[in-house]
Amino acid sequence: MSKCPFCKLEVNLDSVQREKKGIGIFKQETLYYCPHCQSILGFSRGKYTS
Ligand SMILES: [Zn+2]
Repeated sequence: MSKCPFCKLEVNLDSVQREKKGIGIFKQETLYYCPHCQSILGFSRGKYTS
């Protein structure tokens, strides 16, 4: 579990909002949004690691 650094509410894998961006299979990133305040928490390539 982690907390959103912006609104301090709990964010977990079930509630986090994801948006895949990218073209093709080689350049694909996933953006993670806080479900409470819609702030961007980060992005990753592939699996969510935190
Ligand atoms: Zn938040």
